[in-house]
Amino acid sequence: MNTIAERLQSAYQQIAQQCTKLGSNPADVQLIAVSKTKPDADILSAYQAGQRHFGENYPQEMAEKVAALSQFKEICWHFIGPLQSNKTRLVAEHATWCHSLDRLKIASRLSAQRPEYLPPLKVLLQVNISGEVSKAGISPDHVIPLATEVAALPGLELKGLMAIPAPTELKPVEPAFARMQQLSQVLRANFPQASELSMGMSDDWQLALKYGATMIRLGTAIFGARNYERHE
Ligand SMILES: *Cc1c(COP(=O)(O)O)cnc(C)c1O
Repeated sequence: MNTIAERLQSAYQQIAQQCTKLGSNPADVQLIAVSKTKPDADILSAYQAGQRHFGENYPQEMAEKVAALSQFKEICWHFIGPLQSNKTRLVAEHATWCHSLDRLKIASRLSAQRPEYLPPLKVLLQVNISGEVSKAGISPDHVIPLATEVAALPGLELKGLMAIPAPTELKPVEPAFARMQQLSQVLRANFPQASELSMGMSDDWQLALKYGATMIRLGTAIFGARNYERHE
């Protein structure tokens, strides 16, 4: 269990086992390898082991990695971090997915800045579900109103919801996952194409799958512990 390739293989095996247990199809689950703070060489190791979907939290860092690894055309970049309006262009130009959309102003900018030679940016609305680490995300009440506005923007393709529930003693993560599954069903009733549900990280992805996650974001489980120095 030392190399990135071994950790990836183990993660995919565990996902398959968990899906078998739940009676779901592992092909419906996307593992996103969260490579924030990690060097290009680690991404390349994962790529050579077959991984294609990578998650990044910082627009500038993502843009640098996209440039450094541009010859690997099959890499699909997912932007999953907080997004300020002065950084939207980097995401519009370099990402295939944005998981952290939480306001119309950012959505409008991403849509306007999405280059015409690229397909629309696939977006998930980030929901601030109980116990969330940061203040990012919309309240559950705002999912349908924001979805309606986002769905009308030509540079974006509304694909679903994302959440980062954090466990605390008072608020365990399970009810938050359950609430997200319900919200996802409500969204899909209005927007059938918005069927993705991005939730679950290294410590809680098994539980997320139980509540219908279609995208799980694994950092530490694939790349090991992070050193945040370069962002402080
Ligand atoms: C860092 C991060 C992850 C990965 O976290 P791990 O616990 O290392 O798996 C997933 N999602 C988001 C939004 C993150 O910022």
